[in-house]
Amino acid sequence: DLCDVTSRSILSLQPLAHDKKVHLDFDTQASDIPITASSDEISQVVQNLVSNAIKYSRDGGRVKVMTGTAPSMSEAGRLATRFIDGAGRSILLQPRASSEARAAWVRVEDCGEGIARKHLSRLGERFYRVDESRGGEIEGTGLGLAIVKHIMARHRGGLAVASKEGEGSVFGVWLPIADAESRLTDD
Ligand code: ATP
Ligand code: MG
Repeated sequence: DLCDVTSRSILSLQPLAHDKKVHLDFDTQASDIPITASSDEISQVVQNLVSNAIKYSRDGGRVKVMTGTAPSMSEAGRLATRFIDGAGRSILLQPRASSEARAAWVRVEDCGEGIARKHLSRLGERFYRVDESRGGEIEGTGLGLAIVKHIMARHRGGLAVASKEGEGSVFGVWLPIADAESRLTDD
């Protein structure tokens, strides 16, 4: 159940949110979203995205996490990264051919500092950190999004980001609901 995995991942990050006085919101379209996937890996995905949203938020900020379903992969991708007026088109970090398979999605929005457009397409490269050039005092290895990208690829899913500097970012992931296991790949 994607809702269950997501809410538990969020719960485990409450202490981090509390330290930064960030308010964590979870909202779901459906009360349960059964997916065939590795729950460990999907919770790693959610934890990476939510911990980034918290880490790169201002103190006292708000992080919103939403899950839902869609009739197709492309619609799920659209719902997963919708938002932030004026942010422009979202950038696909792990593109997937659209298919008619029903899909589930998770969207993580923050009101943090945002990410400049020139950096967006490089997120998901191992060790790529925007903060290094900002003089970054926030710690990290630059591996979180590379792991997310890898896990989504294994699940035949997508990963995209939209952002606006000074306003925030939204990261979305989506994957086919049925048969994800039989489609798991090692590439
Ligand atoms: P870690 O390996 O501990 O996750 P990290 O957070 O630096 O380290 P990634 O999660 O891969 O690495 O993120 C890569 C970079 O993307 C970050 O260093 C940060 O500059 C930028 N970034 C990621 N998420 C956000 C966000 N929500 N808002 C602003 N910048 C972000
Ligand atoms: Mg990270």
